Amino acid sequence: MLKIKTDNAKQTEELGRRIGESLTGGEIIAMTGDLGAGKTTITKSIAKGLDIDEYITSPTFTIVNEYEGRLKLFHFDVYRIGDIEEMYDMGYEEYFYSGGVCIIEWANLIEEILPEDTIRIEISTQDENKRQFIITGKGEKFNHIVKELS
Ligand code: ADP
Ligand code: MG
Repeated sequence: MLKIKTDNAKQTEELGRRIGESLTGGEIIAMTGDLGAGKTTITKSIAKGLDIDEYITSPTFTIVNEYEGRLKLFHFDVYRIGDIEEMYDMGYEEYFYSGGVCIIEWANLIEEILPEDTIRIEISTQDENKRQFIITGKGEKFNHIVKELS
């Protein structure tokens, strides 16, 4: 378990970039946290760490956006999902097990389909600019991130 606090968005971006650089492919990263916590902010910087130059926007109407960098990134936002069936209908398994990186905003809404070795980033807002990141997981890929961050 890693507990990291940031004092401003720039520090969060730095954290995200380092996480992105540490990824090796196949990670499922489950982001949770209230609206405005910083899920999209850190996702954008993880993308930078994956050498993705394209501008990242939240995939509000499509559930998933795909980007090409050092690894493929699949950016999910499942906030509007009504039923878990929608994940099956969109063929989520093809993304989860593609060897690319999946980042899922509002992952708590699809808890039942998250793999056992999912890496969880729980963001909480402490005040206007302060955020706390609790990063948990198990398995090789999680251990690798922990090693790279410390
Ligand atoms: P979410 O996707 O979780 O709804 P966003 O990333 O879209 O949240 O928005 C987070 C907002 O909070 C941004 O406007 C960002 O600039 C601001 N912010 C302020 N301090 C921080 C911080 N320490 N880390 C991340 N974002 C921060
Ligand atoms: Mg968002």
